[in-house]
Amino acid sequence: MSKTVLHWSYRDYRNVPIDLFLYENLEEVYLKENFITQIPKWLLNLTNLKFIHLSGNALEELPDDIYYLENLEFLDVSNNKITSLPHTIGEMKSLQRLNVSGNKLTEIPKGIGRLKKLEVLDICANQLTSLPMEMSECSHLNELSMSDNTQLTYIPERIANMQSLQFLAAERCGLLYLPAALAKFVNRVNIFQNPSITHIPMIYETFFASFYDAIQTGMPRNIEHPHFFFVREKANNTKLLLPFGTLEVFHVPSVENRITLYDDCLHSLNYLNFFLPLYKNEILLNSLPTKYMGDHIKNGPIARCTHRNCFNPLYTSYYFMPVKRRNSTSKTIFSCNFCSMYCANLWSKENIKKYYSIEWELCDADD
Ligand SMILES: [Zn+2]
Repeated sequence: MSKTVLHWSYRDYRNVPIDLFLYENLEEVYLKENFITQIPKWLLNLTNLKFIHLSGNALEELPDDIYYLENLEFLDVSNNKITSLPHTIGEMKSLQRLNVSGNKLTEIPKGIGRLKKLEVLDICANQLTSLPMEMSECSHLNELSMSDNTQLTYIPERIANMQSLQFLAAERCGLLYLPAALAKFVNRVNIFQNPSITHIPMIYETFFASFYDAIQTGMPRNIEHPHFFFVREKANNTKLLLPFGTLEVFHVPSVENRITLYDDCLHSLNYLNFFLPLYKNEILLNSLPTKYMGDHIKNGPIARCTHRNCFNPLYTSYYFMPVKRRNSTSKTIFSCNFCSMYCANLWSKENIKKYYSIEWELCDADD
């Protein structure tokens, strides 16, 4: 039996037509650009549905029982008036593509992490201020778009670092810095139109086009968080904000190997995260010697070693080196994070024709 597809977009519907019940094997419904204000309960009985397109309606919420649509693979409710998603969203076990962009969401429920088949998530143009760490458990997510959330100040490293991620968009947000631990197989990144960013981690260099330079001149906003870590680059006296969790940075070159035992421990615990995941193990987190250790395990590494053959996770202390492109008028500062002087030296040697390093010094947040 062939599947049934209904094209009922642009029809001035005020409600979802109950005629849907008349169609056998109904799998796909297009109801774009109507005036529908709610998803009726009876619709949740149409469990053959795989695809619902409800973009451009007047929905204010999704029903808690939406997960009754157990075969639903595609749900587009973009450009509605939805203020919150149901906590049961994680029970939509078949969902592969979810578009909730252009709504009024202020948060994403933690349950999203249970969507193990989710491949594409669009949360652009909402009012999000943060992302739940659990999003990093969507193990098949390969496209994540969050542009135009102007209050969103940072992306948890654990999310930017997801193994399956291939596309990441976060333009026109309020990002203060870019996560320096980025998924290894990302092949497209739209993230540079965030006026408060003071430097671009080298890991993004291949995605950075010269036309972004104009945007980088924006004034950094006043940052009140007490735990941020700044350095000042001396050439232009600009403050650079380093990822949250940074406790110590060392110059390149430095004489000795300065990475701490503490970082070594975090490094080892990181491997256990693949199995448990460790960062959700409250008993363990509470038994760690310092609360910061738990924070670092939760957040994941704050950077990866810039040397491409190394890629070691970095936690609290690392060798830091801001650089600029040679023979370029660009003011953009790229930043390198190294696990050791060995990697720093190798990288510098390999890239001496393309970049020169600029000097920096430690500085206080209120300087
Ligand atoms: Zn390294």
